[in-house]
Amino acid sequence: MDTQLLIGSAFEAGQEAKEQILNPRTGGLILEVPEASTAQVDRAVAAARAAFDGWSRTTPAERAGALLRIADRIEAEAAGFAALEALNCGKPINAALNDEIPAIVDCFRFFAGAVRCQHGAVAGEYLSGHTSMIRRDPVGVIASIAPWNYPLMMMAWKLGPAIGGGNTVVFKPSEQTPLTALKMARILAEELPEGVVNVIAGRGQTVGNYLINHPQVDMISLTGDVATGKKMLDAAAKTVKRTHLELGGKAPVLVFDDADIGSVVEGLRAFSFYNAGQDCTAACRVYAGKKVYENLVADLTSAAASIVLGAEDDTTNEIGPLISQRQRDRVASFVNRARELNHVQITTGGEVMDQGYYYKPTVVAGATQQDEIVRREVFGPVVSVTPFTDVDEAVAWANDSDYGLASSVWTRDVGRAMATAARLRYGCTWINTHFMLTNEMPHGGLKQSGYGKDMSAYALEDYTVVRHVMVKHG
Ligand code: NAD
Repeated sequence: MDTQLLIGSAFEAGQEAKEQILNPRTGGLILEVPEASTAQVDRAVAAARAAFDGWSRTTPAERAGALLRIADRIEAEAAGFAALEALNCGKPINAALNDEIPAIVDCFRFFAGAVRCQHGAVAGEYLSGHTSMIRRDPVGVIASIAPWNYPLMMMAWKLGPAIGGGNTVVFKPSEQTPLTALKMARILAEELPEGVVNVIAGRGQTVGNYLINHPQVDMISLTGDVATGKKMLDAAAKTVKRTHLELGGKAPVLVFDDADIGSVVEGLRAFSFYNAGQDCTAACRVYAGKKVYENLVADLTSAAASIVLGAEDDTTNEIGPLISQRQRDRVASFVNRARELNHVQITTGGEVMDQGYYYKPTVVAGATQQDEIVRREVFGPVVSVTPFTDVDEAVAWANDSDYGLASSVWTRDVGRAMATAARLRYGCTWINTHFMLTNEMPHGGLKQSGYGKDMSAYALEDYTVVRHVMVKHG
């Protein structure tokens, strides 16, 4: 397993404290990864700065070629990457191999295409005797900081548009899940010029904090918690860095009385609990019409109870454990506080399992809009269900959140679906589904979920800057 940092073209061990990387299935130690020293962060930023002049002047075709080679290399090593991600995060191997790796490979391929066909305003004589044209140029050196829930996929979402757009990067994975990023560093070192991407390991408060405050960094890209996003904004203010923030979520799911309850339950079984609910778009906050509420709770309860986890034969597992004991205890404490409320019933789950960091898929019925379990991001396999009376109440409750990332509407009435989707203040609204992503379409939020767009041509816009060039005739 790779534990070394990539700084410029050199692989070297981190010079500071060792971080223990634990197996979430067992709680056992996988290995230790020493974190970067401030001197190593300085050298990584300097390497990215030195590489910028050359990389920013490559053609889109040259950058696309590099992205395509990176995609091919990940595809060729799919089994190794999936096994490492499964080990570090506790993900079922089938989810890592069949869901995540193909989407990661496709992300690099998408940006290879997108960078060659960007659009802009038409060049012309907007001022008599002068020709104006628009350029889209890279921002500079980007500090990219990723979370632990989809380590390699978040790396792909950040690197694809950043290096495709001609920027150079210092990438820091989560201190809990650095293994696939450190393996990726080997491929990046071979497929990119020296310094275009540097990979450093370490904790947020130390390495991350030093990196985002670095005066030679032009832009900060974070996927993480809202509180961490606010720290990025503070750091960015000092030298007016650009920021790209993808923060948390608390996705509302509006189930109208005419919805097909069979497909709602099938959908929620998948979309609420995938990745053990450690997903900022997880379908975790269900509002159900009064006529379907009882049936929905009953069927969702049985469906959640049937999810396979913790089985010895990992190929049968549908979800894995939570990432850490801390995260499992946090999830348990949310459910325990909800359990104390008289109007709430835990209809299934609500228990830790006596192995690793597993928590049983949980349904919390009867929660009300003011309850903590409805308002705060749990980031675990827990879904609340709340009955509503009419569409105005459902929309008001759905929008009554600091988060604004993802939402869904379930109804057979296309007019109601469209009218409701138009009123929701979320970066994405799915109709009769949830959670589905495609690299051509943007992923990102409103409100405190942040404003950075991942995937799609919009991400390429976020990682580039519009410039105007004007030529005086004669
Ligand atoms: P986190 O904010 O604790 O950590 C994210 C990253 O930020 C890590 O690499 C961490 O080391 C770093 N970090 C933490 N403090 C820092 C600091 N002071 N300076 C610099 N870097 C710092 O989040 P997490 O616990 O790893 O991930 C879970 C959170 O991420 C959830 O809230 C979830 O909703 C959010 N998330 C959002 C999206 C999205 O697309 N919007 C996707 C995945 C996860």
